[in-house]
Amino acid sequence: MLACVLLLAGAARADKIVLKNGRKIIAYNVVEDGDKIRYETSAGQLALPKSIVDHIEKGGILPLMSSPAAAVAAASLDLEPAEIAATAGESEIDKAAVHDGSVDRNYINHLESGAAAGGAKAIQAARAHHAAARFEMVRGDLERALSDARAAVSYTPEDPAMLLELAYVYLRRSEFKQSLEYLERAKRYARDNPDVYKLEGWTYYGLNRPDQAVVAWKKSLALRADPEVQAALDKAVRDRAEEENYRENESAHFQLKYNGAAEPGLAREVLHTLEGHYQQIESELNFSPPDPIGVVLYTQEAFADITRAPGWAGALNDGRIRVPVQGLTGVDSELSRVLRHELTHSFIQQKTHGRAPTWIQEGVAQWMEGKRSDESAAVLVQVYDAGQAAPLGQLEGSWMRMPGPLASYAYAWALANIEYIVQTQGMGDVERILDRLATGTATEQALREVLHDDYADLMQATAGYLKKNYGR
Ligand SMILES: [Zn+2]
Repeated sequence: MLACVLLLAGAARADKIVLKNGRKIIAYNVVEDGDKIRYETSAGQLALPKSIVDHIEKGGILPLMSSPAAAVAAASLDLEPAEIAATAGESEIDKAAVHDGSVDRNYINHLESGAAAGGAKAIQAARAHHAAARFEMVRGDLERALSDARAAVSYTPEDPAMLLELAYVYLRRSEFKQSLEYLERAKRYARDNPDVYKLEGWTYYGLNRPDQAVVAWKKSLALRADPEVQAALDKAVRDRAEEENYRENESAHFQLKYNGAAEPGLAREVLHTLEGHYQQIESELNFSPPDPIGVVLYTQEAFADITRAPGWAGALNDGRIRVPVQGLTGVDSELSRVLRHELTHSFIQQKTHGRAPTWIQEGVAQWMEGKRSDESAAVLVQVYDAGQAAPLGQLEGSWMRMPGPLASYAYAWALANIEYIVQTQGMGDVERILDRLATGTATEQALREVLHDDYADLMQATAGYLKKNYGR
């Protein structure tokens, strides 16, 4: 979740729980409670038996936002192809397809050579691609994972496990329509699989169809008790109860919901403002988000109740743009700026499949809203010259637990770096960096490929830029 303000007083802990089977869960507020480990995710509060936890890493890699893709990434799913696993020798294929820390493409090619005719060879090729897709997913290469998951489906188009895996990859990429398509197909062959409906719930949630998400999650729970699904369902029901009294309005690219108490004129103006911003950001980033963007306007009170955001949060983007508009009758320049900032997050989220680090998200969002480094330049240069600048690598994860002064610095430094890139290299370079992030390239590597700079080089160049342009 991107909470967009300068004053961060909240101190949500974001830690990594590493299970004995190697699975990692990103979670907030991890606490030991008897023989349980309790934690919070975007799906609500959950607990694990301590016996299956290997260790907890405090403040490791942090989630960017609690989107459906992030929620499902943290969820436990059993996507192993159960029926196929039962046949002899299949786990041998897994081991041969992925070994020594990489995918054996020669082995997969070999299996594929006889697979076109179908039959046992096709099943083996599908299994090998499935193992490769799982591996690439864990490594975070969603591009390769997609290509392998698609190949697996092409060999065994009626195998629910392969269909479910492909739907899962699309969901992780926030490509909800495609995900839904393969879930529908999986349902034909596995009508009683609770994971189909679990994923379907998140997919509908991502498509801003909470009513259908509720139906799907209820089906999943009827088939199997699951605290993750229960928590997701509770949140969706909470959302829906609030939004039941809301009115709806939509424009070419937005689905807007707003409290009945808000002025209808305000809703129309918000949509009009958003469409204007959309066109500008679209041409600047050379990208059109494929999915409609959900926007919810709240009264102050409802905003705090529903989003459960800390008191300091001014607006949020957790897949939908959520903005409190209490007391406003029209779009003033401040609201327009906030909308533009949040909309930029939606563009970057969809363009990079949720893979942009926080400093790039907040840097570009501030640039787009029209903020520049004039006020902060002197302090940033001072901090940099004193050798006390936090490396950009430390600003990749969530900023939720930063103390206020450090967070203000993080926002300012993020803006300065993006401003330097835009002003000296052009927005095209930002676009190329985002493109690389979308394919799973690590941020610093993307900078090397596009700017020929590593983090230290970029920071130095940014400090130089600030001195030159804002020094007196
Ligand atoms: Zn922001």
